[in-house]
Amino acid sequence: MRAMLTLLSSSSSSSSLVLFSKKLFLLPKPSLTLSFFSRNTTTMSINLQSHAFAGNPIRSKTPKSTDPFSPNSALDSLKTQLLDNTLLQQPPSPDFKVLPFRKGRPLASSIPGEMTPSWHLGWISLPDCRNFLEKSGVQLSEDSLVYLGSRSEDDVVYWAIDVSSEAGLVPELGSKQFCFVELRTLMVATDWADERAMGELAIAGNARALLEWHNLSRFCGVCGAKTVPMEAGRRKQCSNVLCNKRIYPRVDPVVIMLVIDRENDRALLSRQSRFVPRMWSCLAGFIEPGESLEEAVRRETWEETGIEVGDVIYHSSQPWPVGPSSMPCQLMVGFFAYAKSLEINVDKEELEDAQWHSREDVKRALTFAEYKKAQRTAAEKVEQMCKGVEKGQSLAADFNVESGELATMFIPGPFAIAHHLISSWVHQDVAPNGVQVRTDQSSSSISNL
Ligand SMILES: [Zn+2]
Repeated sequence: MRAMLTLLSSSSSSSSLVLFSKKLFLLPKPSLTLSFFSRNTTTMSINLQSHAFAGNPIRSKTPKSTDPFSPNSALDSLKTQLLDNTLLQQPPSPDFKVLPFRKGRPLASSIPGEMTPSWHLGWISLPDCRNFLEKSGVQLSEDSLVYLGSRSEDDVVYWAIDVSSEAGLVPELGSKQFCFVELRTLMVATDWADERAMGELAIAGNARALLEWHNLSRFCGVCGAKTVPMEAGRRKQCSNVLCNKRIYPRVDPVVIMLVIDRENDRALLSRQSRFVPRMWSCLAGFIEPGESLEEAVRRETWEETGIEVGDVIYHSSQPWPVGPSSMPCQLMVGFFAYAKSLEINVDKEELEDAQWHSREDVKRALTFAEYKKAQRTAAEKVEQMCKGVEKGQSLAADFNVESGELATMFIPGPFAIAHHLISSWVHQDVAPNGVQVRTDQSSSSISNL
């Protein structure tokens, strides 16, 4: 099926803060629905509960410290289990599941499906984790495990561990059809209509961000002493008692904006040289210290394209744990940015190109991109890797459009907030004041992104 993904908006009773010039307005919270439109115009709506990497099902709420599933209580139970061999013979409560990572890649397996295989995270039990490590001559210690979250209804606490230095684990786990797979590959391979799969992707993203941050924060930035994990790895602390600096996981905020020319009904899309051929996307940039989000949107747009932005309206945000390992987790904060000037003056150091595109052209770009086909191709690749057939660890590109008919341009897939900013503009009418006024009433499903 040649499918086009759209993001529709509809009103709900909840509300969200909307940044609008220098004033703050309360508007109905946009709830987002992904829909497929096939060529014969039948519509299938599916819910996208949240952006990829958001909506983590095991950490929506941190349990209170007295709860047996809280980080500190779980750590105490973990220590007991690691010390006492006999306890490992009985089913423990809560049970522990461990997700190993190697060089930023989570352990995964693949299960054949009717149409497409589906990948799953490679959770292993605590005794198995200990046995695997002992075969490599490594003693499992509680300090190497990082608390991810819990599900009290399943009586399970989830942990992550970095086993990058244990090369022997790769063939050991490979013999059981487990494989360490790039998170970006899993991201493309995830069926966004599958709530379980989206949940596992969010868990893997959170775990990768925490483990990468642990790797980057081995020493105190104040006195240079070693840091030690605290609260089951949820934060760190300087080991020098005279310093005791507390260190928290790092998040790097990024503004990402679709710049809109209201009068001529066009949107500004840009290309970076690192993009795969024909891919166009939104402008984006890091927020600088002492700067508001709206100021960052206006500054970045001006610096990269010479365009002046007036109104800035918040859309949604997405955790992005698949950037460089020096940045464990970015937070993409998405906006519509309304242009006050239209002449483009591209900063060639930042961008390869930036151009205004009509709504029709952007709509066509969405239509041509065969997102579903790319997802299946990636899912099959993961299956081959888990079978040990495919040795390659990364896709050649973030997103390959393997289409017989070459589109002149396409935009990133539905795993990226850029896709949703662009498709919500394409499929909405926007009033002159920038507030979205029309929603597609054909959509019956409402989500709570
Ligand atoms: Zn220190």
